[in-house]
Amino acid sequence: MTCRQLGGPCDLPHHGETHDDVINAQDRHLKEAEKDGDAVHLPARKEMKNRWLHPKKSMGWYREMQAAFAALPED
Ligand SMILES: [Zn+2]
Repeated sequence: MTCRQLGGPCDLPHHGETHDDVINAQDRHLKEAEKDGDAVHLPARKEMKNRWLHPKKSMGWYREMQAAFAALPED
């Protein structure tokens, strides 16, 4: 899945065995972008932080990502 499919602004692809892998890869990617002062990724980084703080509210997003991941062909 790409950064964009996970709510981010770029097309960097993430690969993983499970949706958890790609979500964690996106989390790392957003943290690195923040560290590098990448303003374009900041809104997505804030949203991701918010999701960890409010896991129940974020279940909808999480399930969407799980479904999106499951719908992708294996590569
Ligand atoms: Zn990105």
